[in-house]
Amino acid sequence: MEFQDYIKETIAPETIHLELERGYPFYRKLSPALKDRFTQRTAHFIEQKKFVARQHLLLTDTIRIIVSACAIQVTFGLEKYILQSFEYIIIYPDVYESPITKQMHKGETNLNGFICLSWKYILEGIEKPDDNYNLGLHEWTHALRFNSIRFEETDYFFDGYINKWVACAYHEFSTLKNGKPSIFRKYGATNIHEFLSVTVEHFFESPDEFREKARDLFIQLCILLNQEPVKESSTRINVRNLYLETNNEIMEEALAPVLVFEASFGRTLLNLKWHVLRVLFVLIILLPNQNLFSNIVSFVIILSAVIYMNGKYFTIKFFENSIYLQSGFVRALSRKLSINYHSLIKLEIYDSNLDLTDGKAFQLNYYNGEKFIKKTAYCSAIDVPRERIVEFLTRKNVLILFPD
Ligand SMILES: [Zn+2]
Repeated sequence: MEFQDYIKETIAPETIHLELERGYPFYRKLSPALKDRFTQRTAHFIEQKKFVARQHLLLTDTIRIIVSACAIQVTFGLEKYILQSFEYIIIYPDVYESPITKQMHKGETNLNGFICLSWKYILEGIEKPDDNYNLGLHEWTHALRFNSIRFEETDYFFDGYINKWVACAYHEFSTLKNGKPSIFRKYGATNIHEFLSVTVEHFFESPDEFREKARDLFIQLCILLNQEPVKESSTRINVRNLYLETNNEIMEEALAPVLVFEASFGRTLLNLKWHVLRVLFVLIILLPNQNLFSNIVSFVIILSAVIYMNGKYFTIKFFENSIYLQSGFVRALSRKLSINYHSLIKLEIYDSNLDLTDGKAFQLNYYNGEKFIKKTAYCSAIDVPRERIVEFLTRKNVLILFPD
């Protein structure tokens, strides 16, 4: 979408610094090194954005700096912070009638690539630092989320981890939705996007209460945003690795697994018809001719068939703390993998017709401490007790989907 009469001009970091010292409490509490990071980022952000004033608002540098600072605060721990999907920032003096909904709005983040904000309510959000209302943080959090939905360049970790956050938020979100007592304001129950924005407001305005009353979700926000706000002093950044638990040491846990999907030998044979024919061919044609050449050929064919079959199908075990995968039947030739539920983000289970017969594919999406990995494991199990898996993995904060 295009707008006329915009301002796209740089502002010097020194001007930004003075303005933020005066009117942005979050900035005032930062250490000198973090102040530097904050002004640099704000200047770079302003350089990229087109600001549009509405209803005769006088668009000052102060407005452009403060509005941008709200975005920089939300993304302060992240690597990428420009939010490229949102080229235009439209500022109204007060509430305004939305041309789309015909209702009065204070702000709106539009997937068409612009964000609207009421200057009066941006200021009010900043001037009342602990009422858990902050329009700027709220709308820029939507923008951060929508930026990745629009496949624009987004922070790699945020993009990969957001589903884990959603899975972890499920409990608090349902509590709020069902009208049970919650520290978050009711508006967060509207949908998961609003819930994210409302929790980010709370995260910055009442971090102590948030940490105490909803600790798990607080930690998850620290990981997601790579930042930990502290009420009376400077926010901390680069906290992600303190809280992430990505120990994926290979192990079958001591206690019996909760659920097991075996790679059935019989079904694997059936599923690999063509390879069974290869082995039969060896047995019928080659083996009766006992000479060195036929023995070697037989050996190679049988061995390759065994390795192929062994590698193709997985046994999958859900333990109390981790999911364990092992390919095939011959342990020595098996590939093994353990993923703890803290780093398992999403599991999708769908019908798969590998080698023309039925089975299930388990697609796992997890974080290995450095990057996000997608792994598909085929299993010859046909019956998968959906409700049990959903119930179990929901408890473990893993997103579970059955796409068929
Ligand atoms: Zn909202």
